[in-house]
Amino acid sequence: MAGLIERYRDRLPVDLETPVISLEEGSTPLIPAPALSKILGEERSVFLKFEGLNPTCSFKDRGMTLAVSKAMESECRGVICASTGNTSAAAAAYAARAGVPCYVVLPAGKVAAGKLAQALVHGAKVIPIEGNFDQALQLVVEIAEKEGITLVNSLNPYRIEGQKTVAFEIVDALGAAPNTHFLPVGNAGNITATWRGYRQYHEEGVIHSAPRMFGCQAAGAAPIVHGKPIENPETIATAIRIGNPASWQGATTAIKESEGEISAVSDEQILEAYAHLAAKEGVFCEPASAASVAGLLARHRAGLEICPQGGVVVCTLTGHGLKDPERAIAGLDIPPPVSSDLDSLRQRMGL
Ligand SMILES: *Cc1c(COP(=O)(O)O)cnc(C)c1O
Repeated sequence: MAGLIERYRDRLPVDLETPVISLEEGSTPLIPAPALSKILGEERSVFLKFEGLNPTCSFKDRGMTLAVSKAMESECRGVICASTGNTSAAAAAYAARAGVPCYVVLPAGKVAAGKLAQALVHGAKVIPIEGNFDQALQLVVEIAEKEGITLVNSLNPYRIEGQKTVAFEIVDALGAAPNTHFLPVGNAGNITATWRGYRQYHEEGVIHSAPRMFGCQAAGAAPIVHGKPIENPETIATAIRIGNPASWQGATTAIKESEGEISAVSDEQILEAYAHLAAKEGVFCEPASAASVAGLLARHRAGLEICPQGGVVVCTLTGHGLKDPERAIAGLDIPPPVSSDLDSLRQRMGL
């Protein structure tokens, strides 16, 4: 399957001169979630847009293919980003592909092991700082400007443009827009982009209605819910541990125009949804991703309207569970070995 620039070329800001830096991102599966559908009842269907199956295992690849391609179209000395992990993994991979240097500035000690490994193996210059994501972003914005290095955070408008293709794929797969779409919100680029994609299809007449957008922030990092920046955001969902989202305005527009809502989910609710997805649906996403499903379940339990009877709900699962193996096995027991004979095996199997 071709990458998303080739597939959606007419709807993206590229022309035939644009070098396409692609790892064949996108075309991620829209997986039915029967256990969640059953919880909602009344023939509602829940689908999981599993963005963890992109080349670097998060949705960030959608924006990065376009941002790096456009950077290569103009003079590019290198790319730089601040990151909670996945942006740096994607930037490092696409920069490696393009053959340009990549600099990533990360909050020290707050990035999941898999993401750090990705940035390193792809050859990025990794610079941990004693500060959080919001401080890292301020720094890279300034140095990118001063040194003429291309910023590939979602302040780069091509990131959002690339990421809007997720809405196209969902509609192309369902043959219509879903009724409702839940997704995690950190820096709020993805909710901005997803809404933009639905709007574009609506304006072009591809769909006749657009979904209600429900953004889910972690309770300890919920600036949009509280209406003010959070100085020291805290959550186990490190990918959305952000106190002052760059695309704040885009998120509020998406919520308002789509008649949706932005809400906060606790770390406990996030981990419950994370465990449900792995154990009941067979889908292993990272904790931040599960915020979308946590938001869906919280709304259901509160008895609030989600979609009409027989309606369709999509939850974006933003990244793969293997990104954060430490979180996955935290609190689980790895069983001690048994001796290698049939009796011991049978006994351990409980037969
Ligand atoms: C980046 C990221 C988010 C947050 O997306 P925003 O566009 O910053 O709101 C959520 N989950 C994962 C796994 C991410 O990598």
